[in-house]
Amino acid sequence: MLDLETAVARVLAALPAAQTERIRLTESAGRILAETILSPLDLPSFDNSAMDGYAVRAADVLGAKLDSPIRLRLRTRIAAGEEFFGELASGECARLFTGAPVPRGADAVVMQEDTRVEGDNILILDAVPPRENIRFQGEDVRCGATLAEVGGEISSGLIGLLAAVGVGEIAVARRAVVGLVATGSELREAGQPLAPGQIYESNRALLTPLVTQAGGVGKVYSLVPDTLEATRAALEKAFQECDIVITSGGVSVGEMDFVKAAFESLGGELQFWKIAIRPGKPFVFGRRGAKFLFGLPGNPVSAFVTFLLLVRPALRHWQGARGPARPVHHGVLGEPISNASDRRHFMRVRVDAEGKVFSAGKQASHVLASLARADGLLDVPPQSVWAAGQEVVVQRGFC
Ligand code: AMP
Ligand code: MG
Repeated sequence: MLDLETAVARVLAALPAAQTERIRLTESAGRILAETILSPLDLPSFDNSAMDGYAVRAADVLGAKLDSPIRLRLRTRIAAGEEFFGELASGECARLFTGAPVPRGADAVVMQEDTRVEGDNILILDAVPPRENIRFQGEDVRCGATLAEVGGEISSGLIGLLAAVGVGEIAVARRAVVGLVATGSELREAGQPLAPGQIYESNRALLTPLVTQAGGVGKVYSLVPDTLEATRAALEKAFQECDIVITSGGVSVGEMDFVKAAFESLGGELQFWKIAIRPGKPFVFGRRGAKFLFGLPGNPVSAFVTFLLLVRPALRHWQGARGPARPVHHGVLGEPISNASDRRHFMRVRVDAEGKVFSAGKQASHVLASLARADGLLDVPPQSVWAAGQEVVVQRGFC
């Protein structure tokens, strides 16, 4: 049995380098950048007013007070989007609106609330230091500065920044098309009646949002009964249409488990199977030319855990994403937790409002209620007994 880190390293080493495509900036949230972007301009690109008010020379209004205002001549009016070609002389001011360029000669803006109009003159009721209420050219971003680097995930804030410097299209990594194939003669679709012994299929539904969240494009296939022929036909179709195929079920040692045999009969090479984790020991990774198979166990929680630990990193690596980007919670146990087995146990846990960590409920690999309640997974080493108060790190970040 492989340890988890070795298994992940072997998966990542087998994957190809990211491919690139250009898309519109507005459609890029959550994608991974395939280029480093330098700012083509200063931001702001000109000195402008942070307030509705009056551009002045600070030296002109040094002693201005409510009971001894200073009178300035109104020279011009500059709205946002307009330009003034003149230069403000001593004794003059210019009406400005937020975002309007500050005219040459002025070095501060007095806000409207500290002024009074008196015919063609403006009374300044308060002094301002030089630079007051001006947003200076380049104070946000300098021309040539690095705005984002290859491998970074695109956030809405970054989209705003890139839009502000005039970027409309960017190069991102192509997402993998990920086929979801569920095997098992007992499985039925929602809406179908259940005969004795049959169950509703839930793994494709469980995995679809996780694929999307990890940066793949999920494609759901019809249910596959447990025969070699049906499994082979389903895999063949999925491999034609997808970069990566995820199966669930049919990878144990039972004589009804056909995924490995079907994959090999299509020329696929099994890279490894079985990983020393709980839940999720039966797990298959295989390669067929430039395409890849992740054979997940059928038990829903095992499929969930092996997806997060092995497939998610692969989908991020496929896009050249930097770092694991899995948020964690540092907390303390609110109750004792133990793992008597000889494999690492990824336990479903809840985090309460104070940040204390509790078991989310029954931990067997078919139990979905505790998965639905869970806020994260806790990696509990083999043969360990942890007391309440123990400091732990919970892996969060699944949807
Ligand atoms: P297997 O890995 O095929 O031996 O399946 C292990 C357990 O998971 C069995 O109880 C299956 O009925 C169940 N199972 C397998 N696939 C699914 C699925 N897609 N949805 C829900 N349960 C499943
Ligand atoms: Mg099965």
